[in-house]
Amino acid sequence: MHLKLSADSFFIERTFRMSNDYTFTVRGNYTLACWGEVFKYSVDDWKTIIDGMAEDEKNTIYFWLSGLFRSEKYPDSFFYPQTRLTDDDVREIITYCHCKGIKFYLGYGVFAWFGIDKVAEAYPETKAVECGGMCPSNELAGKINLEYGMEMLERYPEADGFFLEMRDEYGPCLCDKCQEQLDEYGSKRYGQSEISWLKEFTTELWKRKSDAEISVTIGYREKGSHTNDPMYYEAIKAMEDPRVWWMAVRDNYELPGAGGKSYPLSYFSRHMLHWQQYYSSTPQQIGEWIAKAHKTGAIGACPAFEPGFNSYSFYSYDVPFPVNTLPYRVTRFAFQQYCKNPQLSFDEFKGRLLGAFFEPGADPIYADDMLYLAELIQTACGDRSALLSRAWKAGWFREWAAKAAQEPADEKMTVDVWRTMDNAITMFRDLEEKSSRHLAEISSRLPRLRNGGGKNATTADMIERAIVDTYRELMFGPENTEILQQAQCNAKCNITEEAG
Ligand SMILES: [Zn+2]
Repeated sequence: MHLKLSADSFFIERTFRMSNDYTFTVRGNYTLACWGEVFKYSVDDWKTIIDGMAEDEKNTIYFWLSGLFRSEKYPDSFFYPQTRLTDDDVREIITYCHCKGIKFYLGYGVFAWFGIDKVAEAYPETKAVECGGMCPSNELAGKINLEYGMEMLERYPEADGFFLEMRDEYGPCLCDKCQEQLDEYGSKRYGQSEISWLKEFTTELWKRKSDAEISVTIGYREKGSHTNDPMYYEAIKAMEDPRVWWMAVRDNYELPGAGGKSYPLSYFSRHMLHWQQYYSSTPQQIGEWIAKAHKTGAIGACPAFEPGFNSYSFYSYDVPFPVNTLPYRVTRFAFQQYCKNPQLSFDEFKGRLLGAFFEPGADPIYADDMLYLAELIQTACGDRSALLSRAWKAGWFREWAAKAAQEPADEKMTVDVWRTMDNAITMFRDLEEKSSRHLAEISSRLPRLRNGGGKNATTADMIERAIVDTYRELMFGPENTEILQQAQCNAKCNITEEAG
């Protein structure tokens, strides 16, 4: 139990939900509460999401607050005025997480991202050179980023610590100071400035809350931010502390260290976590990822939950994101099972899937049906060349196909939109041709499954919804043939005209 009741108050045991069942001890979600419609989520919406995490026995949430935090010190940083969450709401979410055995980290972007970029506009002297965000070697920039975090802690003292996303995805600052080369391998002052800031941050943090933890993203290679920066990673190694965690991003399983050589994650810290956009992966890929991260020294993972950015499903704009629909339900389950045992074979995984979602004795073909549908939807929603935006907004394809079929053409139909529509129609028609027989077979098995009652009936509903939504969102079925043919014909004409 994580909750102890006393006469007049709750005492929350501030420990991870620990279980011997798991090889990966830290399991959570890097949770982007921005993008799309996600900043409109209410407390209850978040509780629904957190319930799903608790069901998966996740024990950590990195809750992104940049731009959503109502800073009084730097009001320019409040980037999403439609944010529904008040300070009391955030506190309620933190308490809710604690009751569920989930640690809550306050997440923000350091030297970059939404809130901080806005503040940089008000303090132009802090701006990084030839890229966005702030310069980590700039003293005022350091002070602002520190104060922003400390104000957050003051507002939400019950949080367990901080998740710090360093600015590196923007690429390195190219000012003379940041670009000073420090060794023969290419280490730069840029990295050392970030490390100095982190040390200052932990000093201030631990003065206020001695047991607070931090988790910091590392491993970015964007524009060479830390590609050849062994001094940066050696400094990380030297920061070993039970309260400090590192999260390797960008498929890094080795990083550069002493002598410019590559070392596995375990060389740098005992507290290594790994990050992936796991919603884009099949269960096999999730298994391969966790096995590799485990082998190189990671002891946990916090993959991305960021439906407003992308979800590889039809539901990115649903509020809240339906965590019990396909494909995400399979993603969640695969993550949980491979965190228990990174060596799990795929057949064993399928057996566990069958056991978890169906009544005893169910035909294994039903587990295959779930996996087939999950992968079909991920495929449809994952090809950028056939999408107008990363995050699928329900009904977008139907809406734009209707526009594309019109004569004369809608003025919003630029050549890029024509190309995307042409690609999308080709791809979704092709998927229909390949899958329609299989989908019909799956549908024909549903009545028998539903009759089984219990978990069988619940899972039958999930499978049915996936089929119905696939038909609707991808415009499968003969009733759509004419409009899609007309839309594609117009697309091809307009693309050819443009080329001519
Ligand atoms: Zn700089």
